Amino acid sequence: MSEKERAQGQHQDRPTAPAGKLRAATRLVRGGTLRSNFGETSEAIFLTSGFSYASAEAAEARFRHDEPGFIYSRFSNPTVAMFEERMALLEGAEAARATASGMAAVNAALTCQLRAGDRVVAARALFGSCTYILKEILPRFGVITELVDGTDLAAWQRALAPGAACIFLETPSNPTLEIIDLVEVAKLAHAAGAIVVVDNVFATPMLQKPLELGADVVVYSATKHIDGQGRCLGGVILSSQDFLDNHLAPYLRHTGPAMSPFNAWVLLKGLETLHLRVARHSENAARVADFLADQPGIGRVLYPGRADHPQAALAKRQMSGGGGMVGFDVAGGKAGAFRMLDRLRLIDISNNLGDAKSLVTHPATTTHQRLNQAERESLGIGDGMLRLSVGLEDVEDLIEDLAQALE
Ligand SMILES: *Cc1c(COP(=O)(O)O)cnc(C)c1O
Repeated sequence: MSEKERAQGQHQDRPTAPAGKLRAATRLVRGGTLRSNFGETSEAIFLTSGFSYASAEAAEARFRHDEPGFIYSRFSNPTVAMFEERMALLEGAEAARATASGMAAVNAALTCQLRAGDRVVAARALFGSCTYILKEILPRFGVITELVDGTDLAAWQRALAPGAACIFLETPSNPTLEIIDLVEVAKLAHAAGAIVVVDNVFATPMLQKPLELGADVVVYSATKHIDGQGRCLGGVILSSQDFLDNHLAPYLRHTGPAMSPFNAWVLLKGLETLHLRVARHSENAARVADFLADQPGIGRVLYPGRADHPQAALAKRQMSGGGGMVGFDVAGGKAGAFRMLDRLRLIDISNNLGDAKSLVTHPATTTHQRLNQAERESLGIGDGMLRLSVGLEDVEDLIEDLAQALE
């Protein structure tokens, strides 16, 4: 490298606009950017586990928190910090911490604040691994967990009567797209002294703002729409500074579910187009839901943006769009659903969701296979039910594929 090229490493950034004043789309593209002294336009990948210090005194000062700076990538890393700051700006949260996967985020958000003897009340319509944490793991450590019908306010009230440390819920839920009234449930939880933790994956940060509706902590699987292109796993937890300082930061620092800097970079790039993609996912899903509802071989269609959704008015109040997920029942039970899946030529059979590619799954034999028949029935997951994550393809091609599979 020539001296001249080296000198270009002495980049001086211009003063930047204060992020708090920028609108959502601008924050998604620019929020949280840290430029190195090369002045790169695209965020850099700091693929490093550690950091060095100018002197022994500097190392001591940094460990004492007398001086800002990075210490070790299990605690924080510049690329991961950019992703966290962009997520916090998007969600309107005081603090954000990234994790290696969505499940690491759910587990940390719960475990970091719980101790033996605490009670947790949760909605029973959950992502399968969330149910496993609540029903199998937490009770092993003396945490008492109770699952309720999330749409039933009286059931929340009864379960919260003895008090609770926290509540956990997902809305819209997987796979039946049930909507839980965040404002009312948060009021009941707070009256019982509980911290409200919401898994906001299905709604995405673009269509629902749980913190504005009463939630205290929001978690995402960034694997889904935030990446949105099927490339990597990731998770993120958003909370108050107080929750971060007192519960989350020490838990993450010492247990180590850290996000890789490379994945943080992929997810930063995903965020830049999140608003455009989620708008198109929703538009395409609304068209697909309307098409399916008109087909003779299809029973109930579940889509939060349709007027016939059982909680259409609530969905409209707390979400700014229907999202990209559609649930529907195929005539003929499991055989009918499998026949349709096996005839699809474009839409992939996959249990992932929020991808640019349309993906369809049969919950009863995949994501919700662990539940018994009675549990599935109580959640409304029939043998003929399919869950479709509508992608970014031309919606006419998707409709043609579904039509030929139904013939
Ligand atoms: C996918 C998903 C998770 C888990 O996320 P991973 O990134 O796969 O670990 C949790 N909750 C919901 C609602 C999900 O869809």
